[in-house]
Amino acid sequence: MKSLTEILSGLPVNAVLREHVGILKEAAEKMQKEAIEFKERILNLEKENKHLKEELAKYSETEQMIKYKGALFLKKSDGTFEDVVYCPKCHNATFSFEPSVFPFSCEACNWYSPFKGHELPRILDELKKSV
Ligand SMILES: [Zn+2]
Repeated sequence: MKSLTEILSGLPVNAVLREHVGILKEAAEKMQKEAIEFKERILNLEKENKHLKEELAKYSETEQMIKYKGALFLKKSDGTFEDVVYCPKCHNATFSFEPSVFPFSCEACNWYSPFKGHELPRILDELKKSV
């Protein structure tokens, strides 16, 4: 297929039209340059997009800490949650001395969960539904 520049070069023109054809050729050359630039940009963006998709896939496959109700919970790579409450300050596993009475507490920093030990199954259920 002939390019716009080639088509314009092949036109038999008089002196009056020559100037206009010159302007059109310049515009056509500019458009071709831009088209090349856009192709390069698209290729770069496709590469970047592929890379980001791979990163995202890796990220969702790994374990991650999720803050909920003031505490941290570990979401495992299979999408389920560990039934452990982690301290939001030092990330240590916490425990409740007497789940029906006491909240979870962190030995290292004396953090207390805003919920009691026996509420953990309900909180994990809520958490599963919220993410
Ligand atoms: Zn702590």
